[in-house]
Amino acid sequence: MTQIIEVGVPDIGDFKDVEVIEVLVKPGDRVEAESSLVTLESDKASMEIPSPRAGMVRELRIKVGDKVAEGSLILMLEADEATAVPQKVPPEPFAAAAAPAPTAKSPAGAVDVQTEVLVLGGGPGGYTAAFRAADLGKKVVLVERYPNLGGVCLNVGCIPSKALLHAARVITEAEEMAAHGIAFGKPAVDIGKLRGWKEAVIGRLTKGLAGLAKQRKVQVVQGVGRFESAGTIAVTGTDGKATRVGFEACIIAAGSSVARIPGFPYDDPRLIDSTGALALADIPQRLLVIGGGIIGLEMACVYDALGSKVTVVELMNQLIPGADADLVKPLAKRIERRYEKIYLGTKVTKLEAKPDGLYATLEGEGAPGMAERYDRVLLAAGRRPNGREIAAEKAGVAVDERGFIPVDAQQRTRVPHIYAIGDVCGEPMLAHKATHEAKVAAEVIAGHKAAFDAMTIPSVAYTDPELAWMGLTETEAKKQGVAYEKASFPWAASGRALSIGRDEGATKLLYDPGTRRILGAGIVGVNAGELIAELVLALELGADMEDIGLTIHPHPTLSETSNFAAELAQGTITDLYLPKKK
Ligand SMILES: Cc1cc2nc3c(=O)[nH]c(=O)nc-3n(C[C@H](O)[C@H](O)[C@H](O)COP(=O)(O)OP(=O)(O)OC[C@H]3O[C@@H](n4cnc5c(N)ncnc54)[C@H](O)[C@@H]3O)c2cc1C
Repeated sequence: MTQIIEVGVPDIGDFKDVEVIEVLVKPGDRVEAESSLVTLESDKASMEIPSPRAGMVRELRIKVGDKVAEGSLILMLEADEATAVPQKVPPEPFAAAAAPAPTAKSPAGAVDVQTEVLVLGGGPGGYTAAFRAADLGKKVVLVERYPNLGGVCLNVGCIPSKALLHAARVITEAEEMAAHGIAFGKPAVDIGKLRGWKEAVIGRLTKGLAGLAKQRKVQVVQGVGRFESAGTIAVTGTDGKATRVGFEACIIAAGSSVARIPGFPYDDPRLIDSTGALALADIPQRLLVIGGGIIGLEMACVYDALGSKVTVVELMNQLIPGADADLVKPLAKRIERRYEKIYLGTKVTKLEAKPDGLYATLEGEGAPGMAERYDRVLLAAGRRPNGREIAAEKAGVAVDERGFIPVDAQQRTRVPHIYAIGDVCGEPMLAHKATHEAKVAAEVIAGHKAAFDAMTIPSVAYTDPELAWMGLTETEAKKQGVAYEKASFPWAASGRALSIGRDEGATKLLYDPGTRRILGAGIVGVNAGELIAELVLALELGADMEDIGLTIHPHPTLSETSNFAAELAQGTITDLYLPKKK
């Protein structure tokens, strides 16, 4: 079913009389939801106006040179049914909440500290929000339960894992050079020193954050914060004393915690989570990793390089289930060779602690008939948001059944002066999403017309090889029925990949068959995490295959593979032979 709708200029901030400099569609054109319709240019910026729905352009109502403002009619669209752009609008609990959202901003009763903005949680979301709000002139209190700022990311997440992954890469690269004539011998791992180096990296960063908070006069209050009302939070310190902080606006940045599988022996120190794995207590002889997602495989990569015999169990039929299967393949192939065993479509039904190890019973295709013994078991089966642990209900803030706090595009919860950002407000649980949302929330509080409107949030597995993707994946395109074409450049034809002995990678671009604009990209190979950024920018700027193909990339680099993939799409590639179409 179709429906004729008027498509107008959305909220474009304070701009009025903005000139139309380009009309990108004509009557009869098919447009996808979010594809650009017109380009406007003010004296400060140019912006593209996306289509709110997929459908066919019936009639244009503007032309180049016209001056428009919010609400001006752009075109009439024959919209497909149910193709509205997925908005970051809060689901059920938000809209359906029976009680009206509290609006009282002033605290009931006396407070110990009164502030304009209270940020609950000092992770990458929280400290970024606090610093941005302070830079915008707000008086800010930042509440964090631990002595160090930085949250999961700096202390037990992104940073320590990448330090250890760097060590792993050096070990495996040195090992693999033996085949090319340079043998270093078996590495002598001083685990204490390695741990010390990792701690020093964290220390430098967290110390830096404390300094940045001080420079901005952000008051850090240490303790566990819980809402008392829609205007106060009680912060309980390690001495048990509570500090009541009153706020005008609050940003919840309470993050997430490790998800647990019930019935496992959690009091046994041999059962660890990612924090335990990063603590690097020892190098277990046999390590079982439960969960073949990003965190599990990154840790597996570290322990494999350090000498553990690693087994991975994944419930789904694919490692890193969010990524396209063709991109996961080179990673799977490499680790199948290196690891003791990888079980897909399998679950651990029982984990029993015995004096000589942890015994895991597996269920699924190819699972061993008997319980297997491991020296350590790493549980990496996901993370859960901390929304239920802050007494959100006392402030009237809705929390969904999984523990997420629903927010709108301005990061607002159902209580208009309370915002939520980062892991606690939704997937994907990634630090760069948290920091981006943090700035939006702080800017909205400071009166700016900000909103979270990023076109994509890239994902990276810093495994060996790395795996990175952004925008639309092929799996999603097929599921959603989005028309696409793809070009996949094999790294076996990249001079740089060959010269570093790592030619198993691939760079894949998905693009719109009509406009040839990039829709998504995936890279598997060394440094894929660095390489994907260019393609994120391409998507944000609406680049097409010609733009990427004609952009001169330095030679010989792995970055050329994006260029080559675009040339493949354009049929202009010379680094591969494409048979002529008959
Ligand atoms: C092993 C591992 C590796 C990762 N690697 C990456 C990566 O490479 N790239 C990436 O983008 N992401 C990575 N992540 C995810 C990333 O760490 C998170 O997405 C990010 O830290 C989320 O930031 P946040 O500010 O929302 O929450 P968090 O970092 O979880 O911070 C929340 C903070 O709030 C505090 N807090 C919570 N409740 C309270 C309370 N009631 N009172 C006071 N303080 C409270 C917590 O102590 C914590 O400091 C990784 C995660 C893990 C576990």
